[in-house]
Amino acid sequence: MDKALVVIDYTNDFVATDGALTCGAPGQALEPYITKLTTQFIDDEQYVVFACDLHEEQDPYHPETALFPPHNIRDTAGRKLYGRLQDVYEAHATLSHVKWMDKTRYSSFAGTELFIRLRERGIQELHLVGVCTDICVLHTAVDAYNLGFRIIIHEQGVASFNDAGHTWALEHFKHSLGATVK
Ligand code: ZN
Repeated sequence: MDKALVVIDYTNDFVATDGALTCGAPGQALEPYITKLTTQFIDDEQYVVFACDLHEEQDPYHPETALFPPHNIRDTAGRKLYGRLQDVYEAHATLSHVKWMDKTRYSSFAGTELFIRLRERGIQELHLVGVCTDICVLHTAVDAYNLGFRIIIHEQGVASFNDAGHTWALEHFKHSLGATVK
């Protein structure tokens, strides 16, 4: 086990048509690719992390309360994974190399045990998919860069509700974070 896949915020609220903060069609178009890649990693016994936003209703202390409509609220359907990815997760949730990881900030590293889990497994290469390219994927990639991980961004596995932000972030991954975008 030397690489990990981090699936970022691929939940109903960020992807489904009626999601609270949805990327819409560009997000939904990722489902076959993300589902296939996730299944491959699981079958290969590589570490797979589902890093998913967790918010509380009207949290007065959270900075996103003033920035975005409520999303990924605890115990709501909006926080379930989108489409067939939820089935893949449920079918493999008990495996030791499959991990659900709640996060409360954009980066999957902020306030989570992600770094410790990767270090204890000797993982140096991070594959990132999910949404949004220019928010949670970006902030996760920046932290991964600062922590010295090799970063692979799967272009067919990331999307945003902001086209310009998506395009900018792909360039930033390549030219500023030294990531492989494939
Ligand atoms: Zn959020």
